[in-house]
Amino acid sequence: MKWEENVRKIVPYVPGEQPEVPGMIKLNTNECPYPPAPGVQEAIKAMQSRELRLYPDPDARVLVEGLAEYYGLKKEQVFVGVGSDDVLSMAFLTFFNGDKPILFPDVTYSFYDVWADLYRIPYKTCALDGDFHICPQDYKRPNGGVIFPNPNAPTGVYEPLKLVEEIVEANRDVVVIVDEAYIDFGGESALPLIQKYDNLLVVQTFSKSRAMAGMRIGFAMGNEKLIRYLSDAKFSFNSYTMNRPALTLGAEALKDRAYFEEITGRIVTTRERVKGELKKLGFMFPDSLTNFIFATHERIPAARIFQALRERNIYVRHWDKPRISDYLRITVGTDEEMDTLLSFLREYI
Ligand code: PMP
Repeated sequence: MKWEENVRKIVPYVPGEQPEVPGMIKLNTNECPYPPAPGVQEAIKAMQSRELRLYPDPDARVLVEGLAEYYGLKKEQVFVGVGSDDVLSMAFLTFFNGDKPILFPDVTYSFYDVWADLYRIPYKTCALDGDFHICPQDYKRPNGGVIFPNPNAPTGVYEPLKLVEEIVEANRDVVVIVDEAYIDFGGESALPLIQKYDNLLVVQTFSKSRAMAGMRIGFAMGNEKLIRYLSDAKFSFNSYTMNRPALTLGAEALKDRAYFEEITGRIVTTRERVKGELKKLGFMFPDSLTNFIFATHERIPAARIFQALRERNIYVRHWDKPRISDYLRITVGTDEEMDTLLSFLREYI
């Protein structure tokens, strides 16, 4: 068709499967296996029809103010969106608007190259080293911006703050985005650095550590000028990104720090136990500070294990991509779920 010449063509990002199989064990999209905070569940029950009937606050004030208080920031330093995917996409659109390529790791969140293609942002990838660590020198060449997750996905590898700061410091003329989707499982956040570096944007999410992936809540923190630019782009795109329930329930979740610490602590304990068990079974993995383990087996190809698990209704994630095709990304579920996984693997291997 002639009209196809004018179409914006894009090879889309492929999200993890969301199967509805009774009794399945779902370890494929890094969700939290525990419920959200009790206050969130009570607030859902108390919801009235006006939550659906009325438009939401376009400034998302309850949530922005809740986050500002929680993290000790001014509300002008916080931006919220429909999951961190929405926030990151808006940040690509807003900050990566130069002619030079943006930089990110070769093995990383596979949405980055899709947004770059969608917005026609040139990019170059920087190879992680043999242990999947970032080489900071690679980020010291002319570029139009930098983004990397810390800890990285799908590897689970965490980089110390010193390395993050080294990259931010070397790139004062562009915006550096640190995607901290998994920071609450043991890493140290780069958040304090936003007070020192006006080019640093830190992005986080309620999807993993706050057990609210279905609600779609993400946020960015940075200096007031960065946030204002992001907000201008958002208001030029869709004023009402966040829905009313998401604003209310997100603000509610922030009130219960003890519950948050309890469930993230539980996931970390389970993760460390599972690491030990997987090692005994002949798996190898870079050390993970996330709610997943990126594992390869000494003998059996990942694709085969993936298939065998699937036939038992145990879902994990596998990518048929260079460097990582022999790895499985296994989300840390409850102890019981992990025991089922481990006993299957013991038998299978
Ligand atoms: N960043 C990374 C590194 C992720 O793995 C994910 C989860 N797919 C996201 C961002 C997006 O998460 P969400 O949109 O649910 O906040």
